[in-house]
Amino acid sequence: MFSPILTIVIPCYNEEEVLSETMKQLCNLLDQLIFEGAVSEKSKLLFVDDGSRDRTWTIIYKHGLTDLRVKGLKLSRNVGHQNALLAGMFAAKNQSDCIVSIDADLQDDTEVIRKFLDEFRGGYEIVYGVRKERKTDTFFKKHTAQGFYKIMKMMGVTIIYNHADFRLMGRRAVEALEHFDESNLFLRGVVPLIGFKSTSIYYDRKERLAGETKYPLGKMLSFALEGVTSFSVTPIRFISLIGFVSFFISLLFGGYFLLLKFTGQTETGWTSLITSIWLIGGLQLIAIGFIGEYVGKIYKETKRRPKYIIDIDTYNLASDKQVGT
Ligand code: UDP
Ligand code: MG
Repeated sequence: MFSPILTIVIPCYNEEEVLSETMKQLCNLLDQLIFEGAVSEKSKLLFVDDGSRDRTWTIIYKHGLTDLRVKGLKLSRNVGHQNALLAGMFAAKNQSDCIVSIDADLQDDTEVIRKFLDEFRGGYEIVYGVRKERKTDTFFKKHTAQGFYKIMKMMGVTIIYNHADFRLMGRRAVEALEHFDESNLFLRGVVPLIGFKSTSIYYDRKERLAGETKYPLGKMLSFALEGVTSFSVTPIRFISLIGFVSFFISLLFGGYFLLLKFTGQTETGWTSLITSIWLIGGLQLIAIGFIGEYVGKIYKETKRRPKYIIDIDTYNLASDKQVGT
């Protein structure tokens, strides 16, 4: 049996409450997988500390001293879940055949990783973990998430329904991901664009093991807005559309007001005033919409800031790549 080198990448932000348990469970799983020959004994866990302010890094570092399968990547500051994941995947890719990403709170079923590996061995380059139901999510989270998927679909973006960032990617897919140069990479939207043979595995999502969500409402909303605007110019086009509608309304009203004027039913001056307001308003919105379209495109292209900066890397001890753009 082909035993690929697997690296499990776990982004962690203030996860001191669950981290030791997560490590224990993932180490056990890795041991089993190695024992069964499902993965190579060079397989590792890579915990990415996304600028935590609690003992997260200390826990990762200490475990790494006694268990050689536990590696850590400490980022210079908090850069968010998506960038932390990227940092981990790019740091691990040269020494791995495949990479699984999973959250630190173990809401996703770790046993599913076994199925991911079966599919990978069967020739699939990307395997998506998809939640069957959202039983453990609050009513609010469930419905806002569903709304988000619907809006994305309306905007013409392909994302896998109910797939959070629990997935397996082969090394070739991760290498391809490096060529997506945009500074705000929204993984759930970008990974399907990579192509390759891919499939989905369904599983039940559990409650958070401990600690609380690092995605409160504000962060969730900005994440959703980011997702929509980095994949589509539809919102800006919408402005142009409103502009056109307002312009045509002005023409209709103009005709109507003229009629009223000639039949002598209005005050002097009112007709020209109201018509110009609609006309100018409409034209201005059309113009803003068009300009916005261009500005949006330029803005997307110019922000070449690094996505993350690495502080300490115990995975690649002699690594020269400290900044990920
Ligand atoms: N996370 C991160 N950086 C952040 C926020 C979250 O690395 O700025 C990690 C977090 O530690 C967890 C994962 O991203 O491993 C998902 O976060 P969480 O479980 O809080 O989100 P939820 O499941 O509630 O959507
Ligand atoms: Mg979670």
